[in-house]
Amino acid sequence: MRIVVLGAPGAGKGTQCQAISDTFGFVHLSSGDILRSEIAAGSALGLKAKSLIDQGKFVPDEVVIGVMLAAIKKVDNCVLDGFPRTVVQARELDLALEKIDSKIDIVINLVVNEYEVVARLEKRRSCPKCGRVYHLDYSKPKVEGVCDYDGSLLYHRDDDKRDVILNRLKTYHQLTEPLVDYYNVSPNSKVFNVVADGAIADIRADIVEKINSVLNG
Ligand SMILES: [Zn+2]
Repeated sequence: MRIVVLGAPGAGKGTQCQAISDTFGFVHLSSGDILRSEIAAGSALGLKAKSLIDQGKFVPDEVVIGVMLAAIKKVDNCVLDGFPRTVVQARELDLALEKIDSKIDIVINLVVNEYEVVARLEKRRSCPKCGRVYHLDYSKPKVEGVCDYDGSLLYHRDDDKRDVILNRLKTYHQLTEPLVDYYNVSPNSKVFNVVADGAIADIRADIVEKINSVLNG
């Protein structure tokens, strides 16, 4: 089974993808993590991606598609976080999956109040080592400022800062929101809208129930 999680920046995609991964044992494939590992490695692709991400811009389709398709084809069950991000990417993904007799089974669309999104992202902290994401109010680490899993010092990512967030929201409306319509008319994919303004545990329970309804379908 392959699942795509959509939602505005700050809707909690990373957190909920990790929850789906933990609950069902699916591989969590985050385009951000995969690109950040390229950046950490200092590759040409990584340097190009970093300057775009720092400005709140998206990395070009052809770069993201190549990297993500390679990762997606390696696993049978996965949850996709941050990919596809445009209709062009979604079409390429569908074509590539068709060739291996697979498809996107479920799309989870996280729906949030954007005024709250800005406030939430400003309080988000990330682990530079494992990519886990925390929130200063809703999802605190056990020890302030330190990752629960590997003890790394948490940091405020450049792309979680206010000006960059506003840019990301604008880009999201232009490029990513049309994806919901794309999947709504797709005969292969079942789309679920999930209200994602509440507590992380409640949102998680809602998502798990919806995925179970398809698995047990
Ligand atoms: Zn960590």
